[in-house]
Amino acid sequence: MMAYVKEFADYPPEISQQQQDFAVGQLKNYALSVGFTVKPFAVQTDDGPKLPEGAVPAPITLYPSLFPKSCFEEALDIQQSYNTLYANITRDTAWLEDIVPQLAKIDDFVENLWNIHLQLKDGGYTQPLTLGLFRSDYMVHLDKTPGSKPQIRQVEFNTIASSFGGLSTRAAQIHRYLLTNNIYPSTSSSALSPDALAPSDAAAGLAHGLANGHKAYLSHTKPTMEDTCILFIVQPSERNIFDQQHIENELVNTHSIPVFRSTLATVLTQTHLTDTSVLIYTHPSTQRKYEVTLLYYRAGYAPTEYTSPADWTARLTLERSRAIKCPTVLLQLAGMKKVQQVLALPDSPHLQRFLPNADTERLRNTFALMYPLDSTPSGKEGQAIALNEATAKGYVLKPQREGGGNNIYRSDIPAFLKERPESEWGAYVLMQMIEPPAQRNTIVRMTAAKEGQGVVGVVETGGVICELGIYGTCLFSMAGQTAGAVQSNEVAGYLLRTKGDTSSEGGVAAGFGALDSVCLVGDDALGAGS
Ligand code: ADP
Ligand code: MG
Repeated sequence: MMAYVKEFADYPPEISQQQQDFAVGQLKNYALSVGFTVKPFAVQTDDGPKLPEGAVPAPITLYPSLFPKSCFEEALDIQQSYNTLYANITRDTAWLEDIVPQLAKIDDFVENLWNIHLQLKDGGYTQPLTLGLFRSDYMVHLDKTPGSKPQIRQVEFNTIASSFGGLSTRAAQIHRYLLTNNIYPSTSSSALSPDALAPSDAAAGLAHGLANGHKAYLSHTKPTMEDTCILFIVQPSERNIFDQQHIENELVNTHSIPVFRSTLATVLTQTHLTDTSVLIYTHPSTQRKYEVTLLYYRAGYAPTEYTSPADWTARLTLERSRAIKCPTVLLQLAGMKKVQQVLALPDSPHLQRFLPNADTERLRNTFALMYPLDSTPSGKEGQAIALNEATAKGYVLKPQREGGGNNIYRSDIPAFLKERPESEWGAYVLMQMIEPPAQRNTIVRMTAAKEGQGVVGVVETGGVICELGIYGTCLFSMAGQTAGAVQSNEVAGYLLRTKGDTSSEGGVAAGFGALDSVCLVGDDALGAGS
C-alpha cells in the first residue's frame, strides 16, 4: 500500500489517550455550537419509528486530511466547464433519446423518470429555465511509476440532491478552530498551518445558486402572486436535516426568501396548479398562499422513495408546473452513470461537441476507464473484464442509482452478473477502481453506524482514503441557441469525505464515512514510499 513520504510520516501526530480525549471533547462542543449535526437513528414509539428530538455531531475526522494542492486547485478550476457540460447534455434531448430508452427497457426506475419526460415533451413543459446544483466527486490517482504527479480522477457527477454542502462549510471551520486554539499537540507535523487549510463556502454558495433561480423566476416568469417561496422536496424522516437547514437559513436570513418543505407524499395536498401551471403552495399551519418559484429536490433520486403511483403523479405534476426545477427529470437523467461512461469512451466525440473550445482535455484527464456491458464492441470488452475474477478485482460495477449502497465491488462482480440474464447487464457500467494513496486519520463518530445501536461515541484511528467533491451551480435555459443558454455558472465550495481504507463505500449518510477538510500539501508529499 502506498503511503505519504517521510516528509509527513508523522501526520497526524501520535497523541496520548488523554490528549485525544481532550481534543475530541473540544471538537464535539464546537461541532454542536455551529450546527455540525445530524439526527440520531429513529427510535421505536407507540406511533411507529420517530426521529429523536435532539441532535448529535455528524461524523468527522479529528484532523484535516492531506490533499495535493495542485489537485484541489485543478478540481476547482474545471468546475465551471463541468457545469456547462451537463447543462449542454440536458439541453440536447435528442442525444438523451439515444441513450435513455435502451436503459428504460431494463430499468424500471429510469423508465418511470423517462415516462415523465415523454408525457411532457410535446408542449407540456412550461418553464424553460433549469437550475443545477452539482457536485463533481474525485479521488486522487497516483501512477506507481516514480516521479509521477498526483491527478484527480472523477468518481461520479451528481445532478440531484448533492448533499453535505451545509456541513462541509462547518467541517472546515471545526478543523480551523482546533488548529487556532492549539488543540492539536504541538508536535503536529509541519503540514498543518492556517494557510494550508481551505475554507468551504458551500452553504452560502449553494444558497446563492438557489437565490439566483428564485430571482430569475421573478424576472422571467412574472409571478401572479405577491408572496413567493422556494419549496424543498425532502424525504420523510431525513436524518441529514441540518445540512439542508444551513442552506435554508442562508436563503431566509441572507436572501430574505421564504423556504418551505414538503415530501413526495404530502406535496399534492399542500400545493395546486392553476390553469396556467403556476404552482401555489398553501402553508399547512398559516393557510397563507405562496407562488412557488423554485423546487429544490433533496429527494426523489431512489426508487424506494416512490412508494405508490401517487408519488409518481406528484413528480409529474411538479415537473409540469411553472416553478423552476432543481433538477428537472432530464437533468436528473443526465447525471446517470451511463452518461459518464459514454463521455469517457476513449474515442467519444461527445465531450468535444458539448464543450467546444473549452477545457475538453482537462476534463478528459479526470476520466477513469469505464466500460458499458451491452452488446457493443466496448461492451463485450467490459463483459470479459467483469466476468474474469482476476481482472474484475480492479473494478466496480454501478447501476443507474444514487445515494450510496448500490455498487458491486471487485471479486463480487462475476457472480453478481452470472446470476442475472445477459439482457440486463446493459443496465450497469463497469469502472476501474481509483486507488488513492492511503494516509492515517482518526474518525470521530457519535451516530451509531447501524440502525438500532443507539447513540454511541466511537473514535477510531487507522488507514483512510479521501474523496473530494466540488460544488457548482448553473442556471440555464432549455430554449434557444447554445450560445447564451447558460445564464449563471459558479463554483460553490467543496466537500471532503474520508473513509476507512478497507471500506468500499464512502457514504457519510449511509454510515460508512466521515466529513473532513483539506490540509493542502505539495505534489511531492505523495509518493510510492513504504
Ligand atoms: P453513489 O451515486 O451511490 O454515491 P458513487 O459512484 O459515488 O455512487 O459510488 C459510491 C462510493 O463508492 C464512492 O463514494 C466511492 O467511495 C466508491 N467508488 C465509486 N467508484 C469508485 C472508483 N472508480 N474507484 C474507487 N472508489 C469508487
Ligand atoms: Mg457518490
